[in-house]
Amino acid sequence: RQPIIAIDGPAGAGKSTVARQVATQIGLVYLDTGAMYRAVTWLVLQKGIAVDDECAIAQLVTECNIELTPTEDMQSPVRVWINGTDVTQAIRTIEVTSQVSAIAAQSAVRQALVKQQQSWGKKGGLVAEGRDIGTHVFPDAEVKVFLTASVDERAHRRQQDLKKQGQPEVNLEQLKRDIAERDRKDSTRKISPLQKAVDAVEIQSDGLNVSEVTAQIVNYYQN
Ligand code: C5P
Repeated sequence: RQPIIAIDGPAGAGKSTVARQVATQIGLVYLDTGAMYRAVTWLVLQKGIAVDDECAIAQLVTECNIELTPTEDMQSPVRVWINGTDVTQAIRTIEVTSQVSAIAAQSAVRQALVKQQQSWGKKGGLVAEGRDIGTHVFPDAEVKVFLTASVDERAHRRQQDLKKQGQPEVNLEQLKRDIAERDRKDSTRKISPLQKAVDAVEIQSDGLNVSEVTAQIVNYYQN
């Protein structure tokens, strides 16, 4: 099997940017699993299904088709498609972000998406980023990283990202509360909660920039 690099961690720790750079440097495909949970959430909201209607959501997730395609510049996020609709932008709204944890906690949703992720892993090497990659999706991954940062640092970074994307300004205290709340939901859910794999290396990224974190991970992979 081709190598798998698993990068897990809480919301806003910089996983996406780092994972993309690691993938480019090593020549592996980048897999953003959070984008998949977001795409399902978008579809649920778009269809007017209640987020706690587990039956309807189970039906929806087994029938839906998610595609992730890389962008040329490797700077912007991957393009995300669900049932043929490009939802790249739509999955990053505050509405989707605030509902995604509730949907990601449902067993039918996780089963379907994990199965899809594992089948991609069989086809080729990946740098996969998420919450349960090292613990559940690819427990045999060659390299496992648990990437964290303080809530303050993550809220600051999120604020900068939103600014860069030209999104309306969000209050820092509000961002901190949202991040802490998503951490709480993701780490207390019953199925595959956010957790550091016992054999993962933890990188605390406060004060480190993207290239420093990337270099550390590439180094783990090569040695
Ligand atoms: O990484 P991102 O913030 O885009 O993930 C969105 C949400 O998707 C997370 O807050 C979490 O609820 C869920 N998720 C998950 N398992 C993954 C990736 C994301 O439960 N492997």
